Amino acid sequence: MAFPNDDENYPAVGSFPREFGYSSGGEYDVNGAGTLVSEEKPRILLMGLQGSGKSSIQKVVFHKMSPNETLFLENTTKIVKDDVSNSSFVQFQIWDFPGQIDFLDPSFDSETIFGGCGALIFVIDAQDEYSVALDKLLVTLSKAYAVNSNIRFEVFIHKVDGLSEDNKIETQGEIHQKTNQDLMHSKLDNINVCFYLTSIYDHSIFEAFSKVVQKLIPQLPTLENLLNIFISNSGIDKAFLFDVVSKIYIATDSSAVDMQSYELCCDMIDVVIDVSCIYGCKDETENGAFDEQSSSIIKLNNNTVLYLREVNKFLALVCIMREDSFEKQGIIDYNFHVFRQAIQEVFNIHRKTLESSEEEKSPGGINMRSSLTNDAIRK
Ligand code: GDP
Repeated sequence: MAFPNDDENYPAVGSFPREFGYSSGGEYDVNGAGTLVSEEKPRILLMGLQGSGKSSIQKVVFHKMSPNETLFLENTTKIVKDDVSNSSFVQFQIWDFPGQIDFLDPSFDSETIFGGCGALIFVIDAQDEYSVALDKLLVTLSKAYAVNSNIRFEVFIHKVDGLSEDNKIETQGEIHQKTNQDLMHSKLDNINVCFYLTSIYDHSIFEAFSKVVQKLIPQLPTLENLLNIFISNSGIDKAFLFDVVSKIYIATDSSAVDMQSYELCCDMIDVVIDVSCIYGCKDETENGAFDEQSSSIIKLNNNTVLYLREVNKFLALVCIMREDSFEKQGIIDYNFHVFRQAIQEVFNIHRKTLESSEEEKSPGGINMRSSLTNDAIRK
């Protein structure tokens, strides 16, 4: 069954033009799950009641839709499959499910849908009465867990922009407690569920998505280790390894992440891409907004420096440091060079392992761009 591609109706807005490389995705009938059988990429499923904000999350994070535009999104009535692998470093598909999906419906092929799923994100509208959503969450968790016990279960307590700080904590506590109780009563207390407070009106949705994606990256501890070594030898306070297109950070050093630093780094990526799109592209048809020349230094008025360097076609390293640390830019650049080589080696090893064992379909794990030695990495 063919459905119109809704990307045509909702032009990408924000920093990245569509030509930057977003795949257009597609829609599939719930009953047409058979057409999805052949898909092999790990999946992140977005589930939750109708109107909870699933499509908005997907559009804002992966299609640069501005939050205000989501007001005009139509209800999801079909499974919307979005393949973000063409544009991102991390390769996965996001399946956006209609809220009214009925797991008992015989046409719902749970084996296919939950089988190759890496993470299931259940979205709860925190501005609405959530008891029905919690019932649905329990059914969803038990059904998915029965099919695939390796799935990571994540709950986005969403639209918290409408809640006061106290209310946010209270709501999270309530939802957390009720879910744990429900799981215990159903003898499913071995299911591990993580909760996040999210909103598309700030960076919380990007941060939450980053954490979800990171859990699916097998090389995460190695990447964190490399970042730790890099920052401690370079006088850097914080460093994020960003997937440029989605602004998801796929790794950071092990010091705590504060939202403000993350937001600053996201904003820096926007600035670099915007300026590059306007003034940097030689040819309008070229996707040259981010390339091996991409780097940027922004000095803030509080003696802080933001430093961005391209790691490969998809990844950027964004660092925050004090101005006096940046006086030794030569050392930082040298260390960055070594860091970039190490990253390349990590993924080369991964690629070789995949090639030799043909494990590309490792359930749940995210496939990374393996062609780092080809076009992706610039030496
Ligand atoms: P879906 O049916 O779960 O896909 O829900 P939609 O994505 O269509 O969203 C339903 C409504 O919620 C839309 O009007 C969105 O603008 C709104 N919405 C989505 N996310 C947020 C959020 O973080 N905060 C607020 N205040 N509204 C949101």
